[in-house]
Amino acid sequence: MSRPEKSGVMPPHSKHIVRVALDIPLATLFDYTAADGVAVGQRVLVPFGRKQVVGVVMGCAADSELAAERIKPVTRVLDEILPLSAELLTLLRFCADYYHHPLGMTVLSALPARLRSSQPVTFKEALQYTLSASGRALDLGEFPKRKVVQQRILTALQGSALSAAQLRALSPSAAAALKVLLEAGWVEPVTPITLALSPRERELTFNNAHTLTTEQQQAVDAVAQSNGYGCFLLHGVTGSGKTEVYVHLMNHVLRQGGQVLLLVPEINLTPQLENYFRSRFPDAELVSLHSGLADGERTQNWLRAQSGQARIVLGTRLAVFTPLPQLALIIVDEEHDSSFKQQDGLRYSARDVAIFRASTRKEYAEGCPTATPSPSRSQRGVPIVLGSATPSLESYYNAQSGRYKLLQLTARALAAAKLPAVHCINTSNALLHHGISEPLLAALEQRLQRGEQSLVFINRRGYAPVLMCTACGWLSGCANCAGKLVLHLRDRLLRCHHCGQQQRVPHACPSCGNTDLQPVGIGTQRVESALQEHFPQARILRVDRDSTRNKGAWNAMRRQIHDEAVDILVGTQMLAKGHDFPNLTLVCVLNPDSALYSSDFRASEKLFAQLAQVAGRAGRAGKPGEVLIQTAFPDHPLFRALREHDYAAWAKILLTERQSAGFPPFVYQAMLRAEGKQGTEVFAFLQQARKAATALALPVEVYGVVPAAMPRRANRIRAQLLVQCATRKPLQQFLRAWRPLLDALPAQKLRWSLDIDPLEF
Ligand code: ADP
Ligand code: ZN
Ligand code: ZN
Repeated sequence: MSRPEKSGVMPPHSKHIVRVALDIPLATLFDYTAADGVAVGQRVLVPFGRKQVVGVVMGCAADSELAAERIKPVTRVLDEILPLSAELLTLLRFCADYYHHPLGMTVLSALPARLRSSQPVTFKEALQYTLSASGRALDLGEFPKRKVVQQRILTALQGSALSAAQLRALSPSAAAALKVLLEAGWVEPVTPITLALSPRERELTFNNAHTLTTEQQQAVDAVAQSNGYGCFLLHGVTGSGKTEVYVHLMNHVLRQGGQVLLLVPEINLTPQLENYFRSRFPDAELVSLHSGLADGERTQNWLRAQSGQARIVLGTRLAVFTPLPQLALIIVDEEHDSSFKQQDGLRYSARDVAIFRASTRKEYAEGCPTATPSPSRSQRGVPIVLGSATPSLESYYNAQSGRYKLLQLTARALAAAKLPAVHCINTSNALLHHGISEPLLAALEQRLQRGEQSLVFINRRGYAPVLMCTACGWLSGCANCAGKLVLHLRDRLLRCHHCGQQQRVPHACPSCGNTDLQPVGIGTQRVESALQEHFPQARILRVDRDSTRNKGAWNAMRRQIHDEAVDILVGTQMLAKGHDFPNLTLVCVLNPDSALYSSDFRASEKLFAQLAQVAGRAGRAGKPGEVLIQTAFPDHPLFRALREHDYAAWAKILLTERQSAGFPPFVYQAMLRAEGKQGTEVFAFLQQARKAATALALPVEVYGVVPAAMPRRANRIRAQLLVQCATRKPLQQFLRAWRPLLDALPAQKLRWSLDIDPLEF
């Protein structure tokens, strides 16, 4: 390992060593030589093997482990964009460290794809530099004479704003001088629009739609008064006006020149929210960041955030890594949602990373004399608000133990909008037509007559989850997976939802030749056609991943629903989240029971959240709402809590269970997963990993090697090994020691991964 440079003075024009993060699955950084003036955080093009690859300068060093003649020079500094800030680099270092993922891969994965390639970034608006207020106030006559290049730049900028390329033309060391001037705050980056109209200087319009309720006002005050970091859990029932709290907090922050980061779980929700927040803040620039954007647009939005021009950044989990020089508030909406957790590559929880980001703004610099932390920013931190009607047990527990501050909204904001009445229909003694009970049909009929909308929620797409032979009991299993092939009657296909394998529906049983094959269980398509048969006049719309596959389909459907061109909606969880359909008064839930006896200990927590959310769609605007749940266990505490809208009671039951079983949030976990063509190799790898783990003799619990919940997927055998500990620190110490041992195990034909704070079992 190379030693960081301590002294600070670099001989002029010497080549020095930069340590570069590359998208390579190794924990190390890579040393190159560079002319001085390459800033920490700068993108560089470097030779690696026979290729040229893009990397990010993470630090400087005086010397290297490598012999001097083996260190290659940086090919090119990609300085058409600003370097990544020290704050962002700190965040990425933390992620690599906490999730035990190679640093280089962590850093590169945080960039939009365009910035990971050496293609020149063509700006719609090229970045330019101008004098700041303090820069304009400088007396150049007093400026140290020997700082010739800095002086030349300051003088040039008195005329007009200039691009990096124009400044580079002033001197070979202009890049280094510019960096010093930027750090001193005398020069600042701008884009042509901000030149004409700086957002900090103009009046910001705020469309204040509502007078806050007392509870909302208390929540806003608590966060607004937070001095620096504070984590707030905003627990508000559906329709309680959490969004209004966000809007007022944003207003507070925007007025002080801050930027806001708002994380939401789903891409589908971002266009609506974008429009909504634009309507509230018509002249604060808002950009969105999510994987649904074309790469060019995503890059532009990222750059606008980095330049400080975008004041509001709205995005899904990947947006947590957006550079935000004036970040002053983070909001995580629907914080309990599991889509904040990435399930491959860097397996991070965007919520948890956001909390870390809010809590620390310490700046990081490895051995670079010029990267001195600016003390005003270094330890301030910013407030973060986690919003949910059904907080994750982790967050709720933290709020109860005082680590987070709990803010409650206990009633719906609109006085007329009461929480819906929730009833259970006991299916153990009910007659079902395609999975639908009589009382449910009667309730739907009533809504049709009143001209109100209903939603039938079933979390399974397709016609039926499996096809069965009535003679021999054959079931349509997937040849590649441990799962079943789902019947898609409309396409006349059996399809595996795990590996995508599909085949025509057989005419006869492949096992005995019998031609009477029956669908077992229900999916959205079956419910749709059963309802259509029962209510031929009704306008029924199915909303699931199959029906919304085409681009724009879901948007068109939403419009249809709003225009009341739909009577009954049949859909999956896509419909549960965040939508506001004013004429919807009935929500029916079919078949939620499997979660009650799932092997995943979080299944019932998720079910409650999902049902509370889907129930929250009913009766949001004045008309009373009703929720009917078909279950064989109407007395289960989950349904009791739902009926009483009592999240706290349910959370208490779950927390007691988790505590006695030794599950999160009372322990911290890490999961080692492996998969491969040969089961013996998979298990041998995990057994060796286990042996290595126990040999470390550290105070963590190492479980046995077990098959995964889906033990075979796409022809790969899958198994796992769980490690846990009552506190984070020893678990992290253990992982730090274990990870290199894992890297050293033979695993050529396997894929394996380490998942910290895993959500899936
Ligand atoms: P949540 O996000 O908590 O589910 P919303 O923010 O969507 O709730 O608010 C629900 C409804 O209540 C929206 O139609 C919103 O315009 C309205 N609303 C929110 N706050 C107020 C308020 N203080 N006065 C009147 N209506 C409000
Ligand atoms: Zn058969
Ligand atoms: Zn399959």
